[in-house]
Amino acid sequence: TPRVFSGIQPSGDLHLGNYLGALKRFADAQDRGVQSLYCMVDLHAITVWQEPERLRHATRELTAGFIASGLDPEKSILFNQSQVPEHTQMAWVFNCVARMGWMKRMTQFKDKAGKNAENASLGLFGYPALMAADILVYHATHVPVGEDQKQHLELTRDIAAKFNHDYETEFFPMPEPVIEGAATRVMSLRDGSKKMSKSDPSDMSRINMTDDADTISRKIRKAKTDPEPLPSDLGGLDGRPEARNLVNIYAGLADMSAEAVIAEMGGRAFSEFKPLLADLAVSRMAPISEEMGRLMQEPAEIDAILCRGSDRAREIAAPILRKTYDIVGMVGR
Ligand code: ATP
Ligand code: MG
Repeated sequence: TPRVFSGIQPSGDLHLGNYLGALKRFADAQDRGVQSLYCMVDLHAITVWQEPERLRHATRELTAGFIASGLDPEKSILFNQSQVPEHTQMAWVFNCVARMGWMKRMTQFKDKAGKNAENASLGLFGYPALMAADILVYHATHVPVGEDQKQHLELTRDIAAKFNHDYETEFFPMPEPVIEGAATRVMSLRDGSKKMSKSDPSDMSRINMTDDADTISRKIRKAKTDPEPLPSDLGGLDGRPEARNLVNIYAGLADMSAEAVIAEMGGRAFSEFKPLLADLAVSRMAPISEEMGRLMQEPAEIDAILCRGSDRAREIAAPILRKTYDIVGMVGR
């Protein structure tokens, strides 16, 4: 039976990339009737320093972001990673399955650790094994993510395959990445070669889901572009990463293909296109931001949703962990 799992880190402000690459797609898929688990991956967040009160706030705000984007906590299981200890218990087993060499090839580690990799946390290095545990502890079959997580998903499959091979079992299914739509890789508004990120120090590089209408418009007006007008076919975006990014953002927000946006907007100057994009972004994002603000007035209700979701998640994870320990040779009760 199909089962969906995906996670988002409470590591900073949610942004348009998280919305178009993750939250919006989760909400669009909600009524397909597939059991879905969505996790606030707080244990992943602390692989880089998080101020404790900010982390707590960000976890609640992320939960509010899921709900404001249209996820119903009755239909989907919304929970936080640290309340389901089976994730870390499974991760230890996978730490012992994964190889150092596999981890060293992860481009995200290289990006996040920067020049001084010796000073990165051990958790940041081992992060993909915990991510494999997040997914496999539910025997999840489908993992909707942005393009940036593709390499980690491949590593998850490598871990599942090596476990199955080493223990001569078929216990773990191979999870499939689900990477679809026009905006699976939203780029920074300041640099078309970098993805939009919570952890980018420049606030002008992203549209936050908590930004108000004026801020959204201003950031789009100031977004980096080139001087040419929009081309009349998609090929004309080659070598123009900033222009391509704004077209993809428009497509994602309007539920159109990039081709359809070009067909409609080709030939227009950015001075004309940007205000249209700003209006569209405000009309889609401002109501979500307002709803998040409303939900954040009642943090106790958010905590209760996470508590309930964690109980439901544990019911699935506990027997899978127990069986894994049994396969590995642990004496149980
Ligand atoms: P951080 O900088 O802390 O890693 P992030 O912005 O990359 O934060 P994550 O929590 O790592 O956000 O990712 C949550 C989800 O959002 C994942 O599915 C990821 O693929 C997706 N995502 C993140 N950034 C983008 C982006 N720029 N475009 C599309 N999807 C994205
Ligand atoms: Mg990330």
